[in-house]
Amino acid sequence: MHVADTIAAVATAPGAGGVGIVRVSGTQAGAIARALLGRAPRARHAHYTALREADGALLDQGLLLWFPAPHSYTGEDVLELHAHGSPILLDLLLRRVCALGARPARAGEFSERAYLNGKLDLAQAEAIADLIAAGSEAAVHAAQRALAGVFSARVNELQALLTGARVQIEAALDFPDEELELLADPALLAALAELRVQVAAVLAEARRGVRLARGMSVVLVGRPNTGKSSLLNALAGEDRAIVTAVPGTTRDVLRLELQLDGVSLDLADTAGLRAARDAIEREGTRRALAALADADLALLVSDAEHWIDDLAAVRAHAPDMAVLVVLNKIDLLGQPAARIEDAASPLRIALSARSGAGVDLLRAELRRRASGGDTDTAYSARTRHVLALQRAAAEIEAASFEVQHAAARQGGLAELAAEALRRAQQAFDELTGTHSSEDLLDAIFSSFCIGK
Ligand code: GDP
Repeated sequence: MHVADTIAAVATAPGAGGVGIVRVSGTQAGAIARALLGRAPRARHAHYTALREADGALLDQGLLLWFPAPHSYTGEDVLELHAHGSPILLDLLLRRVCALGARPARAGEFSERAYLNGKLDLAQAEAIADLIAAGSEAAVHAAQRALAGVFSARVNELQALLTGARVQIEAALDFPDEELELLADPALLAALAELRVQVAAVLAEARRGVRLARGMSVVLVGRPNTGKSSLLNALAGEDRAIVTAVPGTTRDVLRLELQLDGVSLDLADTAGLRAARDAIEREGTRRALAALADADLALLVSDAEHWIDDLAAVRAHAPDMAVLVVLNKIDLLGQPAARIEDAASPLRIALSARSGAGVDLLRAELRRRASGGDTDTAYSARTRHVLALQRAAAEIEAASFEVQHAAARQGGLAELAAEALRRAQQAFDELTGTHSSEDLLDAIFSSFCIGK
């Protein structure tokens, strides 16, 4: 077990009247429990007891729970005190356990210890932070699945495939006379091909997870007076949608967080992409373009007459961006609401922000995209995971290149292939934390809240 000093923190942030928990973890937790209870606590038993100051003054009546190592959240001896949720009372209790031998925990330190003691892998520890920060129901479920190890299991499958390929390539290094034969083995090529397919699949899942965890970011674009504000109001106006202004709002880019039936959207309403007439407008345009570059989706508000030109303008700024086109103001043309799909152009939704006709079609489409299709199988993930998977994919690609050339007698090198796969392995290891640098751990755990 990882040996460390004893930490303590208020592990809940209760509202008035709720229950507050002070959590203690480490070698002194047992002694602290005995001091408070006046006798040895029973394992995993809730003792209803008086919680007292050193001089015997009563602080509260509450529950004392004792989880001896290794069967605890951190894997260390853990003591929990459940008291009334007054912040002042909890602070007094925290000071009391610190006087008895604990020290205040840093943010994320409990989860870090759980990780160091093998209770969680890194992806699961991050899932806990995601769970706490979840901004929507779908994000809660996705974090739960990551916590349950769904993501880690996917990475372990990749590891197993990779190890198989590595064994064969390393063998080619050990037997130079047979190097070409070993590299030209169709089974090796097949294994590498399978690995590429699987990494791409996990990468797509992780991207979806990132989107779920932080909410899909949508940027609203279109010329002035096309009805962007009206559309935003129509989307936000119904009681199924909750709009909150996000701090940091500028007058050029208005950011709104929109909850659509359990998935969250981060919507940026830009000053549009019109040619700037003055410095302020230039700044607005610059910010609009920056918002565009960051976003997952551009929602282009236009109409039946102008959408082709408007789409070309968006494409000029962001050629690879996913675009959804809204053909607004159908009421003026007397046309029905519609979803218009054809192979040549992005999906278009004809609607009226004023009458509300067709807004449900748009909402359904946004929800579908924000959840990446099926929310029931998604797990939360982070940009860090996506980057590591991308690195692994590139290394596997490089290794495949070498192996294919070797197989075709064109001088591919087992040495290079082996090196690339070793780096791919490192990238996978970073995901679950099998080998992680201290800096990486610090960066991850310091983003937690205290007490977790
Ligand atoms: P923005 O500049 O793109 O934000 O556009 P606004 O939302 O301010 O709308 C510009 C004008 O178009 C306003 O007078 C709106 O009332 C009007 N408008 C917006 N949507 C519709 C619509 O669906 N039908 C009709 N007839 N007018 C609309």
